[in-house]
Amino acid sequence: MGWAIALHGGAGVPLTLPPERRLPREAGLRHCLEVGIAALKAHKHPLDVVELVVRELENHPDFNAGRGSVLTTEGTIEMEASIMDGKTKKCGAVSGLSTLVNPISVARAVMEKTPHVYLAFDGAEAFAREQGFETVEQSYFVTPENIERLKQAKEANRVQVDYTQPDHTSHVDSRMGTVGCVAVDNEGNLASATSTGGLVNKMLGRIGDSPIIGAGTYANHLCAVSATGQGEAILRATAARDVAALMEFKGLSLKEAAAYVLEQLPPGTTGLVAVSSTGEIAMPFNTPGMFRAAASQDGYSEIAIWGSPLI
Ligand code: ASP
Repeated sequence: MGWAIALHGGAGVPLTLPPERRLPREAGLRHCLEVGIAALKAHKHPLDVVELVVRELENHPDFNAGRGSVLTTEGTIEMEASIMDGKTKKCGAVSGLSTLVNPISVARAVMEKTPHVYLAFDGAEAFAREQGFETVEQSYFVTPENIERLKQAKEANRVQVDYTQPDHTSHVDSRMGTVGCVAVDNEGNLASATSTGGLVNKMLGRIGDSPIIGAGTYANHLCAVSATGQGEAILRATAARDVAALMEFKGLSLKEAAAYVLEQLPPGTTGLVAVSSTGEIAMPFNTPGMFRAAASQDGYSEIAIWGSPLI
């Protein structure tokens, strides 16, 4: 048994990406994987590892979380995040954050510093400020790329993106994805974290799968799972919990459980990353691609977007 880590930068990947849009994301994935590996090698608890890695992904402007969060139909920001510890099943979640630099850390504070699991909107913002988390003006998130994404989504009268269709017209990525990380240490401690800006052009107040324990994020003593894709489909499927339940009640391996859950979801909607307590890794997706990276103690390491590994 050894440590393992897997992370994603979203399943909203078009069929092709020009180098100027692909390379910064590959570099971001590589950097975040290195951060996670170093933390695991330094014997940090997986909860600290997934928070650390997701913070890095949130700070990267090319992923849809934190800095790169996409805009609501009103041009505003409503970020959401959740985190879960496998052994204790303690978890925390936030929705409707509009000024926080790192929503994942607020989710962790909800878990550790309140009697609750989930805070949203004004209450979540007030709690985060009271805890002293870093805030910024909304202009930090409202980048020219994000304004263009919203404009394109409005022109196409689109909220949920059809990931299966080629995107030849767009010169910015209108389809980006959530970020997430799962990790296990060599004592079998597991944790999962997911963070997102949601969907471009979403209604005000819309909550997706990412902050919902059991849908976008789940961890228990057997596995840790983080999902990405069309939140409404993932919510209906309780995707992350189903992976754990198939292992728990049916004795499936992580790979079998993750593949089964993906098969039940509508094509073109979902991807997930998962690790098991024994260091197994699964990263299935039914979209054209998923920004992803993974490594384990035995020397395996992979960074990939479409079907085949890049390294
Ligand atoms: N799952 C996210 C949501 O629906 C979006 C994504 O993963 O791309 O909010």
